[in-house]
Amino acid sequence: MGISLEYTPTNAWRRYHNPNDVVQREKIVDQCIAFFSQCKTERETVNWIRMQAASHGFSVGIGEATACISFRDKAVIVVRRGQQPLRAGFRLIAAHGDTPHLDLKQRPLVEEAQVAQFKTHYYGGIKKYQWLARPLALHGVVATRDGAVHRIVIGEDPADPVFTILDLLPHLAKAQKEQTVEKAFGGEKLNLAVGHEPGPGEEDGPRQMVLALLHERYGITEEDLTSAELQAVPAGPARRVGFDRSMIGAYGQDDRLCVFAAATALFAAQTPEYTTMLVVWDREETGSEGASGAKSRLLRYTVEDLIDAWEPGCPLRQVMTGSLALSADVHCPLDPDYQDVHDKANAALLGYGPVFAKYTGHGGKYGASEADAEYLAWLRWLLGDIPWQIAAMGKVDEGGGGTVAKDLAAYGVRVVDFGPGVLSMHSPFEISSVADLFATVNAYTAFFCSGEFPCHASR
Ligand code: MN
Ligand code: MN
Repeated sequence: MGISLEYTPTNAWRRYHNPNDVVQREKIVDQCIAFFSQCKTERETVNWIRMQAASHGFSVGIGEATACISFRDKAVIVVRRGQQPLRAGFRLIAAHGDTPHLDLKQRPLVEEAQVAQFKTHYYGGIKKYQWLARPLALHGVVATRDGAVHRIVIGEDPADPVFTILDLLPHLAKAQKEQTVEKAFGGEKLNLAVGHEPGPGEEDGPRQMVLALLHERYGITEEDLTSAELQAVPAGPARRVGFDRSMIGAYGQDDRLCVFAAATALFAAQTPEYTTMLVVWDREETGSEGASGAKSRLLRYTVEDLIDAWEPGCPLRQVMTGSLALSADVHCPLDPDYQDVHDKANAALLGYGPVFAKYTGHGGKYGASEADAEYLAWLRWLLGDIPWQIAAMGKVDEGGGGTVAKDLAAYGVRVVDFGPGVLSMHSPFEISSVADLFATVNAYTAFFCSGEFPCHASR
């Protein structure tokens, strides 16, 4: 067989069409849809990972051959010990469990025009108008002075009420229509309608009614709301999209699509040569700052603990600089309706497998780490006939984005961004391809099962 002089990405639908692949793919997609329907906050995502790890027999904390270390319910690291010693490095996949949403303000409850409202502050990059006039659920925790932590999910059970942000009727929106989108939809108007019936007392309004109900149903007071972590997220389950059911529509696929794919791969790779590790960080959407973000010392502390438990005396730097990583974050494929923001020759396509981004950043590659040619070439070899593609995010100088790759690169870990495409990214209903999810699970599994680097042995 001669070598191909031209590079053409493989369509993941065409690659995986035999009945066995389809059965396996459909099973994974159904599990993924259930995961998206159930996990809408970083805490819920971390909890899901912990449950999955437990059901696969992983130790809580550091055990003999496995480990599951969660940090304040917001970040989690899952490890499976390989046949090679730790000093030979990890095979590490890092993803993030946080997603753009609306946080309640410190003193959220107000009442205006006979409507009780929760004021919010958005988290992450959103187009604010997408959050108006749609059913929203509240997820999160309320911690009270007595040390109790109440988990709250309202708006997911069909019997639950939902919440919503009101939008101005078109009849009176003449002035609004002439404004820029940024001006027309202000952050201070992202208020959730949470009540309308007056409270029990003669003078009581809807505000008092909401307080009475919060106390009656959840045992919480207005002061408890000041410390609460309650997030407004799109209500309702994830769905299949299209006559052919070929796409997944769900909130929070950036980056839970990668969390799901990487977790599925790690649990499937049962006897890895190198120690495998999945890190799910929080705070990525706001710059990875904070105790549970990728810029924290969490990974370092965990690796130090693993060294103490499994290979005392091994230098941390040796483990880190010998490690290989994938920054598993979603990519933006060519948008059929907004193709002009992309450089078509360097744009990913939905359905052609997970996407390598050799570098991210913006304007002169500013703020990016960049994968080495050697590492990227080895990964291409490793993937064999698993579909993959390589792309840049948008045209040069059109904008850009960052991921956690640079935080891993700072340790000397070899790392490249590699994740499936998601359309309508950061919207309340993000879209991915069923074929890409399957290809991504296969690609991550191949990575976790990989042997020596750099070894391009013939296969
Ligand atoms: Mn992301
Ligand atoms: Mn994002």
